[in-house]
Amino acid sequence: MATCEVCGNDYDKAFDVVRNGESHTFDSFECAIHAIAPTCEHCGCRIIGHGVESNGNIFCCAHCATEAGVTGVADRA
Ligand SMILES: [Zn+2]
Ligand SMILES: [Zn+2]
Repeated sequence: MATCEVCGNDYDKAFDVVRNGESHTFDSFECAIHAIAPTCEHCGCRIIGHGVESNGNIFCCAHCATEAGVTGVADRA
């Protein structure tokens, strides 16, 4: 049994995510996203795909990056 560090649920199928050498324990991807997914600099949504990174800022999609003044990016999907 492991305890989710977001919601405190004791769950036998909890899993660990290691980020920057730190281990985090979650019971669901929803909780993992809540805790460690980055947020889009433009619209503030959680980035659960690859996202678009530019000059140290991260965006959920090329549209948001463009709206924030980043040029030369395009969605590859
Ligand atoms: Zn949880
Ligand atoms: Zn966005």
